[in-house]
Amino acid sequence: MAKNAPEGESLYRKEPKIYPRHVTGRFARLRVVAVWVLLGLYYLLPWINIGGNQAVLFDLPARKFYIFGLTFWPQDFIYLALLLITAGLSLFFFTALAGRLWCGFACPQTVWTEVFVMIERWTEGDRQKRIKLDKAPWSREKILKKSAKQFLWVTFAAWTGFTFVGFFTPIRELGSGVINLSLGPWETFWMIFYGFATYGNAGYLREQVCKYMCPYARFQSAMFDKDTLIISYDKERGEPRGGRKKGIDLKEAGLGTCINCTLCVQVCPTGIDIREGLQYECIACAACIDVCDQVMDKMEYPRGLIRYTTEHALKHKKTHVFRPRIFVYGALLLVIVSSTLWSMTHRTPLRAELIRDRNALYRELPGDIIDNVYTLKITNMDSSAHTYRFVLPEGIDAEIETSRPLDLSAEEVAGVSVRIRMPRSAGQGIQNVDLQLHAEDDPSISKIVKAKVLLPLEFDNP
Ligand code: SF4
Ligand code: SF4
Repeated sequence: MAKNAPEGESLYRKEPKIYPRHVTGRFARLRVVAVWVLLGLYYLLPWINIGGNQAVLFDLPARKFYIFGLTFWPQDFIYLALLLITAGLSLFFFTALAGRLWCGFACPQTVWTEVFVMIERWTEGDRQKRIKLDKAPWSREKILKKSAKQFLWVTFAAWTGFTFVGFFTPIRELGSGVINLSLGPWETFWMIFYGFATYGNAGYLREQVCKYMCPYARFQSAMFDKDTLIISYDKERGEPRGGRKKGIDLKEAGLGTCINCTLCVQVCPTGIDIREGLQYECIACAACIDVCDQVMDKMEYPRGLIRYTTEHALKHKKTHVFRPRIFVYGALLLVIVSSTLWSMTHRTPLRAELIRDRNALYRELPGDIIDNVYTLKITNMDSSAHTYRFVLPEGIDAEIETSRPLDLSAEEVAGVSVRIRMPRSAGQGIQNVDLQLHAEDDPSISKIVKAKVLLPLEFDNP
């Protein structure tokens, strides 16, 4: 409590509950499509198998990520870094180009809240009915409606938590673990945690996550300029606002086209009034555009009193879509995405390294042959088995012997003892030899393995 707060009064303002009104229209349809596509991917992907593995699985204990048929190993960490850079740059690019497109249509908070609000509407009715129900004393009908909502919310949140863990533990095993009550403690914890976070964020916190918790809402304005696409109320057309009969002459009545119906405020999920100007709470969901267009249609005024526009366009200046920052972000994005894709699709699914046996220099064998011993650390990163073979560079007189055939099953990691034998006459001291290791059944899988071969130094007798 602050020093000068009136006694007994808290300085914390209770957030008023927002009852967004249901809206239909072009952008509402677009948001429903986004919800179906994004949540469809989220809930279905773990159940799809590609090449014998789950389509998307982050197998942390095995330290392997399976993504659409590709297997990523800890050595592929660079791709994770590139993915994060791409995500960051995409956010910059699309924000500069089209404002908070992400917030309004693709952010998980928006998408899950949309489903929770949908459930609320099915069980308790639209805005007016929900307000009435919340004000009404507890009755059989209220208990039934609230229980139905809670049941659906909790079931959906639990399914969400289960699916989330299914991206880290094979989902079919997880499913049987749930049925047999044999889940591990971490799986149980994360399932409950993620389910609870979904329930709390989408069911209760909703717009407060966007207003107070999301860092993007704070810094996105730094990426805006006067040519960025924003959702705005056209004051010039709308003001002076006020009620009127349909068909009256606006000039005579001294009115703009806003009939002050407040529907744009009622549909707003963050409870703001777009007519007061651009506000950081606006998540650009375009619900106010849809509802205002319907009002304009009814009043037979042109649509677009609230619309996607730019600050320049509102001031009757030319909007520049292609501006330096768009080119810079776009070019960087293009370079990073194309080089990542190229490197991912052209990477060799084989890792191999020859490590010298530190305890022995070399052995001299009969016939002036020098024998060096190594351990080959080899990883078959492919999802099918391969037999590998060493090939010596041209002109190198040597023999290679391995302690076992280099037959590796899919994703096998092995340590194999390797001997390289060279005649004493091949040289003196350290000889760097580039051996080629390749898969017998697939010539595209090949790797250069560097070997340091030690040969005795010969000294002339004085
Ligand atoms: S919905 Fe349109 S007409 Fe109604 S108050 Fe909002 S801006 Fe004015
Ligand atoms: S002001 Fe309009 S676009 Fe912004 S959050 Fe509210 S309804 Fe969505």
